[in-house]
Amino acid sequence: MKVKLLTLIVLFAIFATGCNAPDNSSQLIQKYDAISKIMVRNALTNRTGYKWLKDFLKIGPRLSGSPGNFKAIEWIKNKMKEIGLDSVWLQECKVPHWVRGNVEKAWLLNNKGEKIKALHIADLGGSIGTPPKGLTGNVVEVSSFEELKMLGPKAKNKIIFFNEKFDYGEVNTFIAYSKAVKKRVYGAIEAAKVGAKALLIRTVGSSYDNKPHTGNMHYAENVKKIPAAALGAIDSDYLSSVLRHHPDYKIKLKMNCKNLPDTISYNVIGELRGSKFPNEVIVIGGHLDCWDKGVGAHDDGAPALQTLETLDLIKRLNLKPDRTIRCVLFANEENGLNGGKTFGKYAANDKNEKYIAAIESDRGAFTPRGFSVKANKNVLKKIQSWLPVLNNALIDWIKKGGSGADVGQIKNVIASIGYVPDTQRYMDLHHSANDTFDKVHPREMELGTAAIATLVYLISQEGL
Ligand SMILES: [Zn+2]
Repeated sequence: MKVKLLTLIVLFAIFATGCNAPDNSSQLIQKYDAISKIMVRNALTNRTGYKWLKDFLKIGPRLSGSPGNFKAIEWIKNKMKEIGLDSVWLQECKVPHWVRGNVEKAWLLNNKGEKIKALHIADLGGSIGTPPKGLTGNVVEVSSFEELKMLGPKAKNKIIFFNEKFDYGEVNTFIAYSKAVKKRVYGAIEAAKVGAKALLIRTVGSSYDNKPHTGNMHYAENVKKIPAAALGAIDSDYLSSVLRHHPDYKIKLKMNCKNLPDTISYNVIGELRGSKFPNEVIVIGGHLDCWDKGVGAHDDGAPALQTLETLDLIKRLNLKPDRTIRCVLFANEENGLNGGKTFGKYAANDKNEKYIAAIESDRGAFTPRGFSVKANKNVLKKIQSWLPVLNNALIDWIKKGGSGADVGQIKNVIASIGYVPDTQRYMDLHHSANDTFDKVHPREMELGTAAIATLVYLISQEGL
């Protein structure tokens, strides 16, 4: 109660001293510094988004086309109404519909064909299954695409084991990931080109366990489709050492995943209308779908809810944004990006509104670090001048860089921005069974909400 009263007094004092743009930057910093400190304190104290997350994740996995996906859409829509947003609507889009099925097995067989060990695999999203009785073959290990291409006839009818390790020496885990993930996305195409009958990749992630990371993979036209799965890191090392002594050992794979006809999903959209410039729009969002091994707590449950809580935080502090703040929880980021593409097209054709900024939260909900901004020099400079205010929520830097897969589809925007928390633990759980509610820390998540809310409020009042 005391905190609430104090908040109101401080906010009244801020507005009483002048709502108009202050004369110089130090006055501006002072004004927003006070508001942002209240945002940080309120987010940390109430933990609203964190409480939502606990409830939201009870839905389970939310991959496009799954029952969980439709439940998540309903949950978000109802939450937007509960917050009391000025408008809430759904935007339909077509999405792929891949199902994992209930058989996902691999065994190591000795030279007599006896099963000597069950291995931990995760089918890659989009993969075809094996024949119902499974598929057995000799294994060839490679660690790069170059090695794979050089195999020639040696790969014919074999199972390719692509055992490229995650680069633990790289400080930025997203850079290490972007190098390692190519085998997941394109491995099946290249393996099929040299005549392989299946692909097993070393899991793409930084955790050393047997909870393999799944994720999207591609086939190419006129190249045979072969089943593809990821193998746990511990089992990958085990398999590699066994093959060194027993190159004649085989693997048996049994997978019944499949691709069903495309289906529909929805972007869930809710907004607070701007009081002075309602036609100037700031988009904030993350994606509501997730892979099905965990429940997508960090990818992208908590980050998506940070953007939704931003609206609630602004509302509960009774702030009236000058510009419209539109939260979009995007469909189908993981295996098609069709939600982002649909919204991008809608924004491009939306002649009545001007898109000022688009901010995405899709890099986990760890401790805030910075904002990565795609904009011209002057806009970047303006945002960078707000760093002392954003520092209240532990933002240390604002740099030129990429934003996010979904908001990146909005081309007619002045600034496209990615929220960047600490990256060290993200790839331990990304797309795996490790991505669960207990991995999210309430303070880290709420500081991120406060960081995003501070930036959004600055843009809404100061423009870009
Ligand atoms: Zn994501």
